[in-house]
Amino acid sequence: MNEKKTKIAIIGGGVAGISAAVELCEHSVPFYMFEQAGRLGGRASSFLDAESGDCIDNGQHLISGAYHCFFNMLEKLGTEKHFLRQDSLKVPFLEKKLLNRNESEINKYLLNTSILKGKSGKVLGLLNMKSLSLKSKLNIIQLFIKLQKKSFIVQNISIIDFLKEQKQSEEAIKYFWEPLVLATLNASISLSSALLLARVLRLSFFSDSKSSALLFPKIGLSEYYNNLKDLAIKNNSKLFLNERIVSIKKKGNAFELISKNGSRFEADCLIAALPPQALLKILPNEISENPFFDEMKSYKYSAILSVYFWTEKEIFQDMFSALINSKFHWIFNRNAFLDRKSKYFSYTLTTSSAENLINLSKKEISNLINEELEHFFQKKEKPLFMKIIKERRATLQISPAIEAKRYDNRTPISGFYLAGDWTATALPATIESAAQSGRRAVKLFLKENGNRK
Ligand SMILES: Cc1cc2nc3c(=O)[nH]c(=O)nc-3n(C[C@H](O)[C@H](O)[C@H](O)COP(=O)(O)OP(=O)(O)OC[C@H]3O[C@@H](n4cnc5c(N)ncnc54)[C@H](O)[C@@H]3O)c2cc1C
Repeated sequence: MNEKKTKIAIIGGGVAGISAAVELCEHSVPFYMFEQAGRLGGRASSFLDAESGDCIDNGQHLISGAYHCFFNMLEKLGTEKHFLRQDSLKVPFLEKKLLNRNESEINKYLLNTSILKGKSGKVLGLLNMKSLSLKSKLNIIQLFIKLQKKSFIVQNISIIDFLKEQKQSEEAIKYFWEPLVLATLNASISLSSALLLARVLRLSFFSDSKSSALLFPKIGLSEYYNNLKDLAIKNNSKLFLNERIVSIKKKGNAFELISKNGSRFEADCLIAALPPQALLKILPNEISENPFFDEMKSYKYSAILSVYFWTEKEIFQDMFSALINSKFHWIFNRNAFLDRKSKYFSYTLTTSSAENLINLSKKEISNLINEELEHFFQKKEKPLFMKIIKERRATLQISPAIEAKRYDNRTPISGFYLAGDWTATALPATIESAAQSGRRAVKLFLKENGNRK
């Protein structure tokens, strides 16, 4: 058996692990990284779909211009340019309106914040939304104005309680706040903390046009991290793909890692860049019995359902659209932003907080897709093939109680650090939260173990 030693090991090659690795390279600290899959990126990764021959993501991701830490990481990997960037936030909506039992019509409208620059542009953008009454629009604008003031303190209560406290109409909640919260927090308004919503709005929507705009990946998500291998080699570090760590043992002041294929490694320090449920599986009892780890044992997660489908004819030309009164929340037109060559048109339908849909069979989901396509695009044409991706534990549900006690990167075990979207970044569980958390774990490690430049 091969015993290998390193100063610091990262377990998990998702965005948090990659961010930690890039930060260690910046400080010339050699490391080992272990990833159980054959590709980097974890929940934000991509793979080749055999049936279509297309590279697809593990679910379409919405990337915000406010993801500064994530873009900083990509800059160091040399891949930050591979995005189609909106010049300012524009969100198209398609709303299905039932006229009677058998008939419906589709209303199309656009939240366009480019009309005027800055904050007033966003207010005007809202006024253009046709599905809202003037009263609801004014409701929302009043709350926006309040939220932009630093002196306006948002309490750590559920979003629904906050919106009711702020006298938001039922219509404003249903047609504006609910879709916004699902898109940004992947959780229902009754579960999530209002603190997270306020922070997301302040960092993106109320910020400059660049930060509030959305970006669309032109390449598969895992391709953004390909250069990490070369960066690691230059830094005398190693990436171990297909290397699942099955247990961690304390060995004096160091840690012994045992992988599924029987290899053993030793590390003075560890960054566990894993989701809580994966971390709990590999901790030895002597560590997991520490009451510090109790809180994460009862964590609950929100699901995301993504359905990729391919058609012979084009069904929709916009880059994406939010869908109102549909079982699916978004449609993405992959032909419009990806660098791909195929004779087929490719689209993705996604649903956040998808607990109601996630247990449906392939046939039931396929029937649902056909119905929705007929309603929204008046197309009889059925998809040629489909790829359904069910992520039952897509993101942690961050309720007010969880937010109040989110885990720091530091643990009571010396030299053992946590990283991941779920840790205390003050952000929802997103790519940016994961990137910030990985970087912070390294900063803490450097502070506590000396900066080895
Ligand atoms: C379908 C979907 C859509 C999403 N949409 C968005 C979006 O639009 N915008 C956004 O910002 N965020 C979105 N997210 C959330 C975002 O993907 C995550 O917040 C982020 O990728 C989390 O990164 P992480 O590194 O913390 O965790 P992970 O990506 O889970 O990384 C953990 C890694 O550890 C590996 N691992 C686990 N156990 C072991 C082990 N024992 N040994 C070795 N390796 C192990 C895993 O394979 C994984 O690669 C979405 C998530 C999903 C699932």
